[in-house]
Amino acid sequence: MNVCVLGGGVIGVTTAYLLAREGCQVTVVEQHRQVGHETSFANGAQLCYSYVAPLAAPSVFSHLPKWLFDRNAPLRFLPSLDPDQWVWSLKFLLQCTSERSRQSTVELQRLSAYSKQVMDEILSNESIDFDFTQTGKLVIYRDADDFAAARRQVEIQSWSGVVQTVLDARSCVEKEPALQSMEQVLAGGIFTPTEGAGDCYVFTRELARISAAKYGVNFVNGTKLLGLRQEGDRIVAARTSGGDVNADFFVVALGNGSREALAPLGVRLPLLPLKGYSLTLPIGEKHAAPTISVTDVHHKIVYARLGSRLRIAGMVDMTPAGYRDDPRRVELLKAQAQSVMPNAGDFTKAEVWTGFRPATPDSRPVLGCSGVSNLRLNAGHGALGFTLACASARLVVDEICGVPTALDLAPYSLTGRNSRRQYGAVT
Ligand SMILES: Cc1cc2nc3c(=O)[nH]c(=O)nc-3n(C[C@H](O)[C@H](O)[C@H](O)COP(=O)(O)OP(=O)(O)OC[C@H]3O[C@@H](n4cnc5c(N)ncnc54)[C@H](O)[C@@H]3O)c2cc1C
Repeated sequence: MNVCVLGGGVIGVTTAYLLAREGCQVTVVEQHRQVGHETSFANGAQLCYSYVAPLAAPSVFSHLPKWLFDRNAPLRFLPSLDPDQWVWSLKFLLQCTSERSRQSTVELQRLSAYSKQVMDEILSNESIDFDFTQTGKLVIYRDADDFAAARRQVEIQSWSGVVQTVLDARSCVEKEPALQSMEQVLAGGIFTPTEGAGDCYVFTRELARISAAKYGVNFVNGTKLLGLRQEGDRIVAARTSGGDVNADFFVVALGNGSREALAPLGVRLPLLPLKGYSLTLPIGEKHAAPTISVTDVHHKIVYARLGSRLRIAGMVDMTPAGYRDDPRRVELLKAQAQSVMPNAGDFTKAEVWTGFRPATPDSRPVLGCSGVSNLRLNAGHGALGFTLACASARLVVDEICGVPTALDLAPYSLTGRNSRRQYGAVT
């Protein structure tokens, strides 16, 4: 079977790799000259296999005024005349009820736990050096109410057998000495030992190299998708800047480009690009960098060690399309990170990066059927694309190849995601 994967980010490349291992002949169309150069490039590097939560949560309502009016808030909403932004925001607010937020937490957790299994399987099959570590993750809280809510979230997640430890401020510093200067201001933290970290770009690049060399995947880089040629209920070709690419199946894994590519077919993806920033610092001998991943909930900043580098990422900006980068947000990120871990790395040599999370209102990706018979979706992974890439790809590939999927795709599908389900034990 010939399959054309549209998009060479972490999602498209993982999909292409698994398709090729199933014996498919795979072509990947990517607009950049190299894979992984868009949102998968310098993200927060977290592999959150157990501790996942949607952005839409009941606490959003109390934080809203701050997000609207405080320039220094970790999440900023800059209203525009763009109706898509308003429609997305409304759908997002509708997802902020306890029930919906809980439903999305469970579905994200199911997917992330499966992603760990698939990632482990890939790493047992291939040798990929992407500064991968599995030293766990500490989520720290300053606000007592936020910490109480987190402890309740631990209970929700414990259904699935996830092991998490609730720590007081002292124990947080004992667990991660790089947080020493924070002891007085912390309410506590949650430690999850199963969480990992790694360089998403290097993973994507190396998996692409292996896919081409070992499994014959054809990467057509530097080629832009211009449209999809439809005949009846089938796509017959992808129109690209390099000519038509024909295939039996097509997978849309275009990240933020997915919405635009699908709109002419009448397929409406609920995606909004949420801007974020990252810093990558060299770690010298005199630095005391963290050895475990840390999330500072107050500032919504994540820290991950990647070998001799420290990756720091944060800020969620709902800005109008095309809105310029804001150097003040980068300076704020730098200042806040420095206040938490002043000696974690060389802040004067920080490499700055801006990326856009392809976000859905409920934080769940859109997987599987598109409504067009031979077109499949693998997009909208928001702030969790690296974490969820392996599971999403496995599910979409199994569906294409007619293999029973390990998870029900309905909660992640375009049409089935809002149907009500009973949430008992997560298996
Ligand atoms: C600041 C920040 C921090 C993050 N931190 C984390 C984290 O810690 N952990 C985590 O799991 N996730 C994190 N994420 C999210 C993660 O990076 C994304 O979810 C993931 O990279 C999305 O992958 P993708 O393949 O869908 O998109 P992309 O990587 O953007 O890939 C899509 C590809 O499609 C190509 N494309 C688009 N349109 C066209 C076209 N018309 N023709 C040809 N090619 C096209 C693009 O060039 C691109 O290469 C973070 C994101 C940001 C912004």
